[in-house]
Amino acid sequence: MGVERIMNELQNVYEQIENIVGTKFVSDSKPICYSYSMNCDAVLQGIPEIVVRPGNAEEISAILKAANQYGVKIIPRGGGADLTGGAKPIGDGGIVLDLTRMNKVLDVDERNQIVTVETGISWSELCDYLSKIGVGYYTGSTGPASGFSATIGGGLSNNSVGGGGAAMYGAVTEQCVGLEVVLPTGEIIFTGTKANSFCEKPLTRFGMGADYSGIFLGDVGIHGVKTKASFNMYPLPEYAAYGTYDIKKLQGVAPSDRVIEVMMKWQQNHLPLHDFYFWPQAYARILKAANVFPPISNAKVRGGFLFYTAVAKTQKELDVNVEKIEKIASDAELRKLGDSVEEGNLGKWFYEEEGRWQWAHAYWGLSGTNAGTCGCCLKAPTYHLPDYVKLYEEWNQRNQPKLDEAGGGSASFIVFGVHPCYIDVTGGLLFVDADPKFRPIQYELWRDLIIAQLKELGGMHYWMGEIIGQAMVESGALSKEYYNFMISIKKALDPNGILSPGKFHLTENY
Ligand SMILES: Cc1cc2nc3c(=O)[nH]c(=O)nc-3n(C[C@H](O)[C@H](O)[C@H](O)COP(=O)(O)OP(=O)(O)OC[C@H]3O[C@@H](n4cnc5c(N)ncnc54)[C@H](O)[C@@H]3O)c2cc1C
Repeated sequence: MGVERIMNELQNVYEQIENIVGTKFVSDSKPICYSYSMNCDAVLQGIPEIVVRPGNAEEISAILKAANQYGVKIIPRGGGADLTGGAKPIGDGGIVLDLTRMNKVLDVDERNQIVTVETGISWSELCDYLSKIGVGYYTGSTGPASGFSATIGGGLSNNSVGGGGAAMYGAVTEQCVGLEVVLPTGEIIFTGTKANSFCEKPLTRFGMGADYSGIFLGDVGIHGVKTKASFNMYPLPEYAAYGTYDIKKLQGVAPSDRVIEVMMKWQQNHLPLHDFYFWPQAYARILKAANVFPPISNAKVRGGFLFYTAVAKTQKELDVNVEKIEKIASDAELRKLGDSVEEGNLGKWFYEEEGRWQWAHAYWGLSGTNAGTCGCCLKAPTYHLPDYVKLYEEWNQRNQPKLDEAGGGSASFIVFGVHPCYIDVTGGLLFVDADPKFRPIQYELWRDLIIAQLKELGGMHYWMGEIIGQAMVESGALSKEYYNFMISIKKALDPNGILSPGKFHLTENY
């Protein structure tokens, strides 16, 4: 296609979108397009040609129909807090669909304890809203640690986990009971019980055929644009308790070996933990050195941190549970820190002071503006933790010369618990130089680390936006049959390959 024809088509699609949303909510200005060209990693960039901020599902439907007509790619975006390049084009060009204007709470059904929202609302806004309704509610799993900006749509598309409540409620997708989705070709559908047009309210995902919500959960926006979502909601816990431990090497046993014994006992005994996190010694040292959080320095911790939060309906129930939780930790000879936040009780800070939406700001942002991160978090069986320690140590050693060439950085991680039998190994390459000249070699290193996680330990990633989804395919982690199944579904839903092309290399294989 000639350059002139492409420019004309773009002009046509721009005008059509302008008619749909109005002049105020669409732009092709270079600075605006640049500001949508990256997410929160240091490396991946794709500059869109148009950015549009629709106000409802009908507008999105019309925009998708126009994109199909002109063959222009389109990428949904929530808060843009993705860490692996999902919420921007792969390669330059196309339209970024910013969903953050669609941020209303639509219905709070207290009888069925279900809340329905537009998907552009952030997790913290939703939890704040729910806390003020009736007896006070929340979403159980309160979204990712980026929840001050990350949206419901982004969390559901990334299978997010990691703010508060993960140990008790799992990933955010586990609480979803139904969706409204605009399909790539523009049709609008409901999933779950709301697929029955006579059904007044969403109730459960399961019914009306297969779990069709499931193909949109964790799909990184390739199967459709989620416009509404319904969730279970829960009364805010009336009683909560917290504890934080210093966990250092003891009689030759490394902290990561000592901590798995405690974490596994907590998990296997199904103790009602709301959250638990382990921050290894290396990370604790960095936090102390940077003095980003004074209680950590006050606590004079010599090892890593293990902290928990627990909730209950009565004080008596809480006391019984806390006794069991703490006995397992004290049997393992962990040193308990003081009760107050000032004495280093990270559990209390995490639960009472919105630490759930702040802890990762330090982790992903510690290196400031001159350096960035390349994340590759994943779920793993709890007993695999020492294997991950080894994998990261060996990988860093093996790649030291290349890391030097790439301007520095190293692979590291922290851990949080995701009930019932696995943990989340949060991490990736940290402290990578933000100078764009290093991007190609950083990309190579990042991809290599993801493939090591996949091949050496059967890693189970969940942010598939760009590099991870592609590395899964390139490494051969997906069987041929499974991959063909993915292509068939994508092709059936998106015959022209206009929605988020390039993810998992699917559209290249039509
Ligand atoms: C400080 C920090 C902490 C983080 N902590 C966590 C954590 O604890 N756990 C975790 O899982 N992640 C975490 N992340 C990564 C990321 O923020 C989350 O995965 C989050 O859910 C992304 O939400 P978002 O609204 O910003 O989505 P975006 O970045 O805008 O988009 C994410 C993906 O979803 C797609 N998408 C977005 N909205 C829609 C929609 N409505 N319909 C269809 N597709 C859509 C996009 O195309 C993209 O592929 C963190 C990131 C940062 C910077």
